[in-house]
Amino acid sequence: MFEIFVEGDFSAAHNLVNYKGKCEQLHGHNYKVRIYVYGKKPAEDGILVDFTDLKKELKKVISKLDHKYLNEIEPFNKVNPTAENIAKYIFKQLQVISCKLKISKVSVWETERNCATYYEE
Ligand SMILES: [Zn+2]
Repeated sequence: MFEIFVEGDFSAAHNLVNYKGKCEQLHGHNYKVRIYVYGKKPAEDGILVDFTDLKKELKKVISKLDHKYLNEIEPFNKVNPTAENIAKYIFKQLQVISCKLKISKVSVWETERNCATYYEE
């Protein structure tokens, strides 16, 4: 099996709902996103998925979040905009825009030291 990843980033504001602590206040992050794609074997050219194509797909998804107040946009007006839920959202959106992509997991960093990963069993 092969697995590759590409990274992207976006900046957004949020505040956590039903959370006691400083993150219930409005604040922002420079989020880093890493998406992993897997496959049994690369094509004849030795490429599993073109990094450039994969970055474009990721960009389509994260551009919807960039410079937004997450609590005001779908689905985070109903779902708490935690790193966990953002990772799940990006995973699901990637599946919607490209059914061919085999995504193994999506990781979202709020800071260099805080990261949440979503994957499906
Ligand atoms: Zn935060």
